[in-house]
Amino acid sequence: MATGAHPTVARRAVLGVPPLSRLLGWTLVVGITCFAVRALVHLDSWSYAMVWPAVAPQLVALLTSPRRQWPAYLAAFMAVQIIPARLALGIAPEIGVVSTLAAVVFAATMLHRDQDWVVGRTDTLRSWRRFLLYGVYLGPALASPIGVAGLVLNGEVGTAPGQLLHAAMAWYLTEAVGIAFLVPLMLRWRHYVRPHSWRDTAWFATMIAVTVALFAASATMSSFVLVFLSGLPALLVLIRSGIAAAFAATAVGSAMALGGTFAGYGPFALSLENPGQALISAQVFVLGAFTMLVLVAAALEDRMRLAALEDVSHKAYDLIADLTGDVVIVVDADGTVLHRASQGHEILDIPDAPITKLDWLNQVHPDDRVALADFPAATGAVSKGASEPFRVLRVDGSWGWYVLHSRRTADGLTAAIMRDVTLEREVQESLTDMVNTDPLTGLANRRGLDLRAGDLWVRARAAGEQVSALFVDIDHFKSFNDLYGHQAGDDCLRHIGEVLAHLADPSVCVAARYGGEEFAVVCSGCDDPGGFAKGLVTAIRSLAIPHAGAPKGTVTVSVGVATLRPWVTDADLAVRDLLDRADKALYAAKSLGRDAVSVYREAGVLLGE
Ligand code: GH3
Ligand code: MG
Ligand code: MG
Repeated sequence: MATGAHPTVARRAVLGVPPLSRLLGWTLVVGITCFAVRALVHLDSWSYAMVWPAVAPQLVALLTSPRRQWPAYLAAFMAVQIIPARLALGIAPEIGVVSTLAAVVFAATMLHRDQDWVVGRTDTLRSWRRFLLYGVYLGPALASPIGVAGLVLNGEVGTAPGQLLHAAMAWYLTEAVGIAFLVPLMLRWRHYVRPHSWRDTAWFATMIAVTVALFAASATMSSFVLVFLSGLPALLVLIRSGIAAAFAATAVGSAMALGGTFAGYGPFALSLENPGQALISAQVFVLGAFTMLVLVAAALEDRMRLAALEDVSHKAYDLIADLTGDVVIVVDADGTVLHRASQGHEILDIPDAPITKLDWLNQVHPDDRVALADFPAATGAVSKGASEPFRVLRVDGSWGWYVLHSRRTADGLTAAIMRDVTLEREVQESLTDMVNTDPLTGLANRRGLDLRAGDLWVRARAAGEQVSALFVDIDHFKSFNDLYGHQAGDDCLRHIGEVLAHLADPSVCVAARYGGEEFAVVCSGCDDPGGFAKGLVTAIRSLAIPHAGAPKGTVTVSVGVATLRPWVTDADLAVRDLLDRADKALYAAKSLGRDAVSVYREAGVLLGE
């Protein structure tokens, strides 16, 4: 068997047979307490039964056992109460026993489900209210008429309404007080056996001493005020040590109140002629005090639990924010940061105290402040995805790129996360560079040329400037490769690329390797593109790269030039047209004999420049 359970144990559990030691233990406790109280009552007076101690162990036994084992416990409890009383005392307690069992079964049925409360894992107000209602008030109320019926049958009580009422009251209170005080003490016994700090112990002992002293004083002075004041030490114990310790303190006080009244001392005993009436008053008093204590204690426990929960959720929130690496902030409608998740986050060089929008906007790059001007959005609960990226000053003086995701809550606050996208941007930028750059020369490739030239076209159109294109082709490059090898050819391409990069001002020009041994330069606002082309040809000639296969003995280039004044049209189309014209001009330059510049004119290609 996977669980390792012994087959007989499993069968017994199914049949509802409790562990023998538990059954015997509880039966013994119930038997002894019942017999002791019944013997006292039998010998002297009903007053001994002011607290019916047998209810609590029976209820606790059922609460802490599976339901199917209840019949076994109930049968044992019934037998152990009836048989010794009949044999040794000669009394027939059956109806009394049934009365008690009715209260026990009712309360156990109602409370068994709340096992968290039973085993002391929780002390919620809800659970304790249920205990008061079903255990302390309704259970004994159910038992009382049955018990009184037994008393009437035995002839112990007359049938006059006053007598019946008194008997019902007395029966009810003895069971209620028994359940109220003993059940919590038995269910929370683990609290009492675990080690306590000496301070807690000293505090508890002091408060108990104060309680005893107050009751002693109240007994000698017959003062209700002193009895009333005895609630104070119990409250102080509650606040310091919790609900279980408070039960113990209240139990001591209640025992003093009931014991004193029973012995004929104290304000309850003296204020009423009838001792039975005095006991009832004392019982009502302790039950009332108990109810108040339980409600206050449980409410306090609820509060502390909520506070602890809030603390935990705050910590979890900070932790999650920390793990994401995002800056998490909460801002009010004015953009004042009320809370941020992680202390001293490296990018926000600001204190944890609330800071105004102006304060944190100062950390944002001046060019990007406009983008954040209307943050937080005045309306709309949901923002549309991330904001535009913006730069924030880091503690090390560098600019980090961030985007903002924000949501407005119903109460007008906005929660936002600032996500660091610096790395993504850098990766993106280097990827963009890579796809737009020619790896051999480091110039733009055709893609990069198209992009930049389109931009230049648009800018030139706005500025009313002309745009020129130069097509550059190396002369006799095939034979250069054949003579000196491909490696030397690559070096030559690189050198010519450097010249182009050097001469073309990147703010107004883009120099590109168009393909193979052809280069293109597009410039805006160049007044003399022909002159620029000649300068280029000269510069390359003066590199003096030896080329035995060329007529001049060195590497030369031919350049075709074209110029257009931008008009409103698709920039890509226009640039293509411009390059096309330059290419035609280049063809003319080649026809001219190479190492030459040719400019394209509207009327046709003008040769010989
Ligand atoms: P022309 O004066 O008419 O321009 O003659 P050309 O030999 O330069 O023209 P052609 O187009 O016939 O030859 C271009 C040569 O450029 C072909 C090829 O060997 C060389 N070439 C193209 N790309 C590369 C390159 O990336 N590296 C090297 N080393 N050579 C290249
Ligand atoms: Mg060529
Ligand atoms: Mg060539």
